[in-house]
Amino acid sequence: MEHMGNSLVFTNEKCIGCNKCISACSAMGACVSSVVDGKPRIDVDGNRCIACGACIDTCEHGAREFCDDTERFFADLKRGEKISILVAPAFKANYPQEYEKVLGGLKRAGVNRIISISFGADICTWGYLNYIQKYNFVGGISQPCPAVVSYIEHYLPELLPKLFPVQSPLMCGAIYARKELGITDKFAFISPCIAKKMEIDDPHNKGLVQYNVTFDHLMKYIKAHNLSGNLATDEIEYGLGSIYPTPGGLKENVYWFLGEDVAIRQIEGEKHMYEWLKKNKDRIKQQKTPFTFIDALNCANGCICGTATDPEKSETDDALYALLKIKSESKKNNKKTAWGRPLTPAQRLAKLNQQFKSLRLEDYLRKYTDRSSTCPIRIPTKEQADRIFESLHKTTPESRVINCSCCGYASCQDMVTAIFNGFNHKENCIHYEKDEILLLGDARELAANLETEKEAIQRQQDAIGSTIESVEQHFTTLYESIEHMNSENENNASESTHIAGDMGDVADFMQKIRDSLSEIQQLVENLEADNAKVLDIASETNLLSLNASIESARAGEAGRGFAVVAGEINKLSASSKETAEQSDKNHQKIQGAITRLLNEAEHLVQIIEEVNGRTQNLAASTEQMSSATTIVLDAANSIKQSLDALSRDLT
Ligand code: SF4
Ligand code: SF4
Ligand code: SF4
Repeated sequence: MEHMGNSLVFTNEKCIGCNKCISACSAMGACVSSVVDGKPRIDVDGNRCIACGACIDTCEHGAREFCDDTERFFADLKRGEKISILVAPAFKANYPQEYEKVLGGLKRAGVNRIISISFGADICTWGYLNYIQKYNFVGGISQPCPAVVSYIEHYLPELLPKLFPVQSPLMCGAIYARKELGITDKFAFISPCIAKKMEIDDPHNKGLVQYNVTFDHLMKYIKAHNLSGNLATDEIEYGLGSIYPTPGGLKENVYWFLGEDVAIRQIEGEKHMYEWLKKNKDRIKQQKTPFTFIDALNCANGCICGTATDPEKSETDDALYALLKIKSESKKNNKKTAWGRPLTPAQRLAKLNQQFKSLRLEDYLRKYTDRSSTCPIRIPTKEQADRIFESLHKTTPESRVINCSCCGYASCQDMVTAIFNGFNHKENCIHYEKDEILLLGDARELAANLETEKEAIQRQQDAIGSTIESVEQHFTTLYESIEHMNSENENNASESTHIAGDMGDVADFMQKIRDSLSEIQQLVENLEADNAKVLDIASETNLLSLNASIESARAGEAGRGFAVVAGEINKLSASSKETAEQSDKNHQKIQGAITRLLNEAEHLVQIIEEVNGRTQNLAASTEQMSSATTIVLDAANSIKQSLDALSRDLT
């Protein structure tokens, strides 16, 4: 359970964050919205809470509880502390049957004396009437209700001068008990009110009362501990102070003494009364109301149905009936006291003043504290409010005045102020949440689309990846081929250069062959000339042999040996001629062959020169190709590296 700023009212674990308490609460910022462990909840800020109890009544989930001093009271009693009790008039009205039994039980538990605060209320009435008269204090606000006091101290400090400075019935009773009855015990107030604890603990009240023991917690304790004893009752007789716990109880008391012509504004009800005070604060402050005073109570049904009474009792009018009975008994049918019916208001007042003539009004006055600095409300500037509205998705004028109150505040503007002050958060606006859900739907759709897109991109990436892989493989092959080609080109270039060189050699060689052939042709021609000479000689020889034959024939027998020689010379001449002729035929054939050979050699030289020229061109091209291939190889290498990097990036 969270007790922010020692709050009297606090939130327990049953809170579901329904925001109803915010709408019931009159104290801006007292209900603080948060999310704890993923659960929304509304806690109470003790610096801002006025303990009006409205949220306890409103909360259907039993998530709001309150603290009082019941446990400490009984613990101290057990320890033997001397404690007397001051009993609120509403206790008898709430527990008319059990009243004396309970008081008996408390006596048995160790309580010393029992003083009814109806008597303190009588002193309070005396104090109001005298203060009004003495200080001409009109248009003031009554202060028996500590929630009203707390509200003005926290949220309307400008009205503090208009709060009656007369003590409450409780404090009047306590002061009387100390001063006039001489009771030095600690005092426990048997109280219908959670907020009484604030009054008790107020330093201005000098520790007069020590315990706020609420009806609800007291009766639960008594039941739980089976506490009972002999019947006991309160000690001091009282008058119409007994009706203070009903709405307009103070007013009725004043009417009793001043007559009913006095203008008194009676107003009660947690939300309603505070709104009224806020709206009328300027009039009240400037004393522009026609009222003698304003009788204001926090609880719509008065203290008999106070914030710390059993809620079941508030569901019926039983307590009211009982109180009317007490009221009737408080009025006497004689003229002896201020409560005598037969008396006029003036006579009653005179009797009242007579009853309390020994009291000093100043002893029953109090002071107040401006507590507004503990609960500041910062009002956002237009720009600041705009920013918050925008964060709530409220971008149009209409969206800023939806005023559905689901967040607990009366208007979207109030919610903005609450967010600005850190009392609430945007997630508590139902329209913001609706917008968020719509946006979430859109976002989900987008996310689904994105997922589909992502899958498509992934598929494309995979495809690109495998394409790149295959390109890489091809590229590797290409790269290797180019590399191979490059090296082959380099070889080719050098081979071509060699071939070109060789072809040059071949051309030179062919030139030499052609020259040799020309020489041979020349020699053959020389040989032909020689052959012609042989033929000439053979012809001459034949002629000689013919002459010799003729001479030998003439010589007869003496010429016979000469005729043989002439015959042999003739044969030699014929044979030389035949040889020369045969040789001439051969020369012609050789000549023809050499000529053809020369022509062929010429043709071959031309071809070889042509081939040589081409081979040189080829060698030069191959060189160029080789250096181009090197550039291609470099380019291929850097493409391959880029592909590698791309492939790595894709995986
Ligand atoms: S009324 Fe307030 S305390 Fe009660 S459940 Fe709702 S949010 Fe919680
Ligand atoms: S007790 Fe009153 S002031 Fe305090 S949180 Fe509840 S409604 Fe607000
Ligand atoms: S729209 Fe939002 S901020 Fe406005 S009142 Fe409703 S819940 Fe509150």
